[in-house]
Amino acid sequence: MNIYNLTFEQLEEYFINKGEKKFKATQVFEWLYKKRVKSFDEMTNIKKEVISYLKKDFNINNLEIIAKQEDVDVVKFLFKLEDDNKIEAVLMRHDYGNSLCVSSQVGCNMGCKFCESGRLKKVRNLNTYEMVLQLLKIEEVLNIRISHVVLMGIGEPFDNYENVINFIDIINSPKGIALGSRHITVSTCGIIPKIKSFINDGKQVNLAISLHASNDKLRNQLMPISKVYKLEDLIPAIKEYINKTNRRVTFEYILLKGINDRYENAIELSKLLKGLNCYVNLIPYNETSHIEYKKSDQNSILKFYDTLKKNNIGVTIRREFGKKVSAACGQLRANYEEEK
Ligand code: SAH
Repeated sequence: MNIYNLTFEQLEEYFINKGEKKFKATQVFEWLYKKRVKSFDEMTNIKKEVISYLKKDFNINNLEIIAKQEDVDVVKFLFKLEDDNKIEAVLMRHDYGNSLCVSSQVGCNMGCKFCESGRLKKVRNLNTYEMVLQLLKIEEVLNIRISHVVLMGIGEPFDNYENVINFIDIINSPKGIALGSRHITVSTCGIIPKIKSFINDGKQVNLAISLHASNDKLRNQLMPISKVYKLEDLIPAIKEYINKTNRRVTFEYILLKGINDRYENAIELSKLLKGLNCYVNLIPYNETSHIEYKKSDQNSILKFYDTLKKNNIGVTIRREFGKKVSAACGQLRANYEEEK
């Protein structure tokens, strides 16, 4: 197994089972996440005997970057996994820091009609280490520190729940990468049972919900998953999340020209979200050559924004990144496969 798969608690347990002091876990985590060594042999304060069974039980393999595209304030990476599958991660430079958009699966089964990633059906879940290494590898090659992580790359994080939670654990742990929970966001298309698990797990990270429509009829057209998890059940689940955690939820809403960007949609959305501790992040659609939907024009975007505002719904418009670098998730992989 890859050593980056283990949470701090799991590594402690490993050492306890070996009859060692659990403090060894602190030492190993320091080598991995603070000093960033690439081999067990570099862990010089750990005795030879321990190193030798660590080597037997674990590998410390890295991921390979096979393509990189750069634009103003954005760098996009294509990774090759050990089984030859390919995934993407996108680094965005904001004035508040470096934010990394991480993939959670190879492909995706949610089938959202506007999304490039879903054109490749899910091949498999990513292991925890494959998410951790997206971050470590990019910090290394760009020689930067990443301050924010968003689980908004390829895949549905709540369709790979356990590995995603372990990933969050590792990057959030003071013993590991020590990113603050407020700097980590997990985004879901609305898998209600996993939203409930998430409430019970008590993680303090941000939750974003991909809404994209203000009624089920329209949402069904855009997001097949909404036939299973309807708004009348989704909204109460989110209310429960807000009540139990006291945290504000983000709703993502892509504006698609002529589809969900009308005045009436904004009014309906305001009614749906009225009184919820939330805000709406309006996303200008990132057009892709394979999908017919078009981006709303600037006027419609601003009008939509104003309508929500007038109705007392917190709202922001997402800054657009990487037009030149096919920044919509799934695009770099798709282009790479086509060129071959
Ligand atoms: N599966 C998760 C996370 C990955 S998608 C989810 O659905 O939330 C991250 C966000 O990007 C989602 O809100 C998704 O709807 C949005 N998205 C997908 N394709 C897009 C595109 N071409 N332009 C803009 N946003 C897109």
